[in-house]
Amino acid sequence: MKRARRARIVATLGPASRAPREVKALAQAGVDVFRLNFSHGSHDDHAAALKAVRGAELALKRPLGVLADLQGPKLRLGRFANVEIDVKPGHQMRFDLDPAPGDATRVQMPHPEIFKALRTGMLLLLDDGRVRLRVGERTDKWADVTVESGSKLSDRKGVAVPEAVVPVSALTPKDREDLAFALRIGVDWVALSFVQKAEDMAELKQIVKGRAACLAKIEKPQALNELESILDYCDGVMVARGDLGVELDPEEVPVAQKRIIRAARQRGVPVIVATQMLESMTSAPAPTRAEASDVANAVYEGADALMLSAETASGDYPLESVAIMNRIMERVENDPLWPGLMDAEHAGMDEHDVDALVAAARKAGEAQSTACVVVFTTLGGTARRMSRERPLQTVLALTPRPETARRLALVWGLEPRLSREPASLEEVTDDAVQKAVEFGLAEPGQRLLILAGTPFGAPGAANLLRLAHVPMKKAKR
Ligand code: PGA
Ligand code: MN
Repeated sequence: MKRARRARIVATLGPASRAPREVKALAQAGVDVFRLNFSHGSHDDHAAALKAVRGAELALKRPLGVLADLQGPKLRLGRFANVEIDVKPGHQMRFDLDPAPGDATRVQMPHPEIFKALRTGMLLLLDDGRVRLRVGERTDKWADVTVESGSKLSDRKGVAVPEAVVPVSALTPKDREDLAFALRIGVDWVALSFVQKAEDMAELKQIVKGRAACLAKIEKPQALNELESILDYCDGVMVARGDLGVELDPEEVPVAQKRIIRAARQRGVPVIVATQMLESMTSAPAPTRAEASDVANAVYEGADALMLSAETASGDYPLESVAIMNRIMERVENDPLWPGLMDAEHAGMDEHDVDALVAAARKAGEAQSTACVVVFTTLGGTARRMSRERPLQTVLALTPRPETARRLALVWGLEPRLSREPASLEEVTDDAVQKAVEFGLAEPGQRLLILAGTPFGAPGAANLLRLAHVPMKKAKR
């Protein structure tokens, strides 16, 4: 099963979608990477979801990535006895440290550091800004708040304190436990929320030690200011528009999106555009015109992947959401204007040898009879450099390592597949031709471009660009 599009789809798993049958249907409908959201669900839920993804991968014979999204130091409310409460302007209640289920008079806010940072008169934004509260009397253990606007508060809703710096580390104790668990069950990507500076990612990488690829979620103004230094420590990056939109004015979010995509593409770091892409589809079977346009725009911008959150995790139409996203993406990539718009700012050549080769492969691949580029890659570096060129022909990324194939499932334009490590130039050519035909990427008589590295069998950058032809079928006798 190959994709007809270059941009990738990330879908969040949750109660609406994590059963094996659903996961398989979602992958069939177009999901390339599944997100386990550690802000919700138990470890058992996530372990079962990962197992379902690996099962779907086996059934569909296509590598699927799993991304563990760590909650990060997001401040959240505790739980309510009846899941949610109705509020109206003027409603007064207390936030405290008591884990007992909340009601209309009080609820837990399980963050002692918040209470210390709050001052009377400060603004609190809850549920992505849908509810605004003003702090009244407070101590280090509780705060009385008055609702200024909003109508509902429910379990585990986010709390932003725009007027104070809350001194929290990038990885909370819960994140550290979740991370250890995620690495143990063998996820492919780890995302860190509320990154503020490069050191936050450095700390994550130090713990992960190469067992998964590391992604920074850009959702704080502080991270935008430090974007280039954060990217130094990233294998991937996310435009996390949900929380970004809470702390930035709405007109700043699209500008930030363009800036992050551009910076990531310059470096060949895969970039995900996330949140509210098809939000109305959580409760309706069709998207709004604005949502369709938003999805299309991210594809025209050349983002590596687009993400669905509540649409697939808890919405009423998970499968329809993926199917619609897939259709919009395919439609854009069939627009004759798309290549020019998508590659309007082509990434320049760095001083890597491999950049000279991938640029040559892209150029040579423009000839009509070239079916695809085949890249032999051990850790995925050569394949990512090839994708950075945004070539219009499909890139078959062959690797002997399942973990590399799964990580590459997030990257624009790559079709990662497993294949043995070739031991000679002859094996390179034979394997490239055989796999390209097997996966439906090339036909007899067509030309292939092959990128590989010598000495064979040792990881290292590609240093070889070879042309091969798929032999014509022998006539049957
Ligand atoms: P979240 O991150 O869904 O974990 O909050 C994405 C975002 O903030 O956009
Ligand atoms: Mn977020």
